[in-house]
Amino acid sequence: MASNRKLLVHGGRVLLASGVEPVDILIAEGRIAALLKDYPSPDVDDVLDATGLVVLPGAIDGHTHFIPRDLEADSSDKPDDEGFVHGGRAAAAGGITSIVEMPQAYPSTVNARTFERKRALSERDAIVDFAMWGGISPLTSSEDILGQVRSGAAGFKAYTSNGDPDMPGLSDIQIVDALSLLRSTGLMLGLHTENESLLQAYQARLRASGRTDPLAHAEARPAILEIEAVARAILLAEYCGGRLHIVHVGSPRSAELVRSAKARGVRVTAETCPQYLALNLEDLARLGPYGKCVPPLRSQEEVEALWGYLGDGTIDCIASDHCGYKKEAKEPGRSNIWNAPNGLPGVQTLLPAVITGARQRGFSWEHIARWTATNPARLWHLAPAKGSITPGADADLVLVDPEWEWTVKEADLLNAQKWSPFEGKKMKGRVRKTILRGETIYDDTHRERITVDPGYGSFLRPSVPTGG
Ligand SMILES: [Zn+2]
Repeated sequence: MASNRKLLVHGGRVLLASGVEPVDILIAEGRIAALLKDYPSPDVDDVLDATGLVVLPGAIDGHTHFIPRDLEADSSDKPDDEGFVHGGRAAAAGGITSIVEMPQAYPSTVNARTFERKRALSERDAIVDFAMWGGISPLTSSEDILGQVRSGAAGFKAYTSNGDPDMPGLSDIQIVDALSLLRSTGLMLGLHTENESLLQAYQARLRASGRTDPLAHAEARPAILEIEAVARAILLAEYCGGRLHIVHVGSPRSAELVRSAKARGVRVTAETCPQYLALNLEDLARLGPYGKCVPPLRSQEEVEALWGYLGDGTIDCIASDHCGYKKEAKEPGRSNIWNAPNGLPGVQTLLPAVITGARQRGFSWEHIARWTATNPARLWHLAPAKGSITPGADADLVLVDPEWEWTVKEADLLNAQKWSPFEGKKMKGRVRKTILRGETIYDDTHRERITVDPGYGSFLRPSVPTGG
């Protein structure tokens, strides 16, 4: 579906491997054909004026829950919260050109059959390109895992705790078995790391004491839940040599464990999310259920420390963990925090929040591109087609006005459920255009804003080097 027209992105400051440079990007057949220093260049059909804009590689969100609903397989009355059409529009508006969709679905993807069904449903609706996580529950067999590998899983998600009824936590031996089985595939085991027995105990105490306020949610999940599970997962990965990825790191103390594990050669990578970089306990108290996520928001001191672990390369990437819950689902948590589900929407605000926070702290555009594009492309084996502005790569670009200051307003959100924990937050740096495989998919100035139809996005199969 790539356009055959030759397009020149002219006049922007472009993030290349060598740094930000004033080059023009020649795009042909959906790919970056050349980086040009001299203008005018020969023979193009269109010139896109990027004067005054920073051109970054399209962002890759490694952690979304768009959860397309398979109506044939699921007759329950579970709500259709997001889906690929709305989720993809919001992603495009946020400068994201590819996502890696989590295995949750109705039904969840835990074998080749459910994986293929979800892939087909998602291909019908996709706005942005997408890879898919496979899922591992305690009932998933080795054959079910390998079936998902053959179907094109880019990584595997599992839990150490019982947060998701469809995917209960794995036992330690199941984690060892999964890491060992995946070792030869080169694919990661992405773990949601919380200690279940501590969680149950803390939660029971707080409930028994009558606490129902928002901060009780954070107190029921002190950092030790995450730290213990991260430490255990790292030790298991070190023991069996598999590739471990810690999703949504919320505590700097677990980041420190990742740092020292990396230093001694353990194959571990880590992700954090904008909510842990831009929101804190005061926001949880203010937002109530609309700030309820897992792990919970932490203190501003911990927020600042996480930025440090991004800066030194301990944390590899930033993903949204986008969950598009309906307000009706969250609202009961206003009077009693326990009555709201865990999760926040964030696909549209991911890149702006990272740009804003990173620049406030003196980080460069190179850092921003590394955390949001280059590293995710490497972790989920989407490079070299994705994640960098290099000749031969897909022409996936986001054009950002670096000086534009704006405020997050729910009315501007394109996801299905119009709310955001970032509502009212000031951002500096605005996405003006998002280009996927040479096609503009989002245009800030266009009346419709989204300029492609559902189905434009394609399934991405990981390009895993043979032998893992
Ligand atoms: Zn998640």
